[in-house]
Amino acid sequence: MLVSELKSMDEIKEILKQEQKIFFLACLGCSDACKSSSKEELDNLEEALKSDGKTITGRVDVDFLCNKVLVKIKFLRNKDKWEGADSILVFSCGVGVQAVSKIIRKTVYPAANTKNLGGFQGVWPGEERCAQCGNCVLDLTAGICPYTSCAKSMLNGPCGGSNEGECEVEKGRDCGWYLIYERLKAINKLADFKKIRPLRDHSRMLPKKETRGLDFYAIDR
Ligand code: SF4
Ligand code: SF4
Repeated sequence: MLVSELKSMDEIKEILKQEQKIFFLACLGCSDACKSSSKEELDNLEEALKSDGKTITGRVDVDFLCNKVLVKIKFLRNKDKWEGADSILVFSCGVGVQAVSKIIRKTVYPAANTKNLGGFQGVWPGEERCAQCGNCVLDLTAGICPYTSCAKSMLNGPCGGSNEGECEVEKGRDCGWYLIYERLKAINKLADFKKIRPLRDHSRMLPKKETRGLDFYAIDR
C-alpha cells in the first residue's frame, strides 16, 4: 500500500499550462483507496480543465498502474483515446507514474504526491521506486524519480561524477541524471532539464489527518 494525495487544482493547472490535449490514466489500486484517483476527483478535474479550454481525449482505469503488463494491455486496447493526446496525466503514486513513463514515449505528469509511510515501502513488481517525498517532481524529470534513480538523490542535475552514463558511486550502475536527460531528449522536453526543481517541503511528506484516519493507515491510530 502506498499513500497518495491529489495535488492542488492550482498545481495541476500549472503543470499542464503548456498542454492542450490531455489523456487521464487512473490507478484502481492504492490510489483509489486513498481517493486520489476516485471517479469524483477525475470528474471534478476534467470539468475544471475543460473550462480552461483543455481537451480531455479520454479516460482509462488500470487495476494496478505499477504493473507494466496491465498498463501495456490497456494502452494497446485504448490507442484511440491517448494517441492524439499531448500528454498523459496519471492518477497514482510515484511508482505508477514512472511505470507509465517507461512504456510510452509521451510526456507523463503526476496528478498526486506520494506520502511518507514512515519506512514501509509497499510491494510492486517493477524496478521503479518512490521515496514518498510528498512533493512529486516527476513532471520535470521525464517521469524518472531523481530521489531514487540517483545514488545521492540529487534534485537539480547530476553531481560531478557522472561518467558517460555510469554513476560514480557503483560500477555498472546507471546515472539517474543521465537517464533523465536521455528521456527528456526523447520526448522533446530538454528545456525542462534546466528548470529549477523546488526543494522538498518536508511538511508535505506526511499524509493529511483525514488520510491518516482511513482504515488502511496504521500510524496515528
Ligand atoms: S518525486 Fe520521486 S519520491 Fe517524490 S513522490 Fe515522486 S516518485 Fe516519489
Ligand atoms: S553519478 Fe549520477 S546517479 Fe551517481 S550520484 Fe552522481 S548524479 Fe547521482
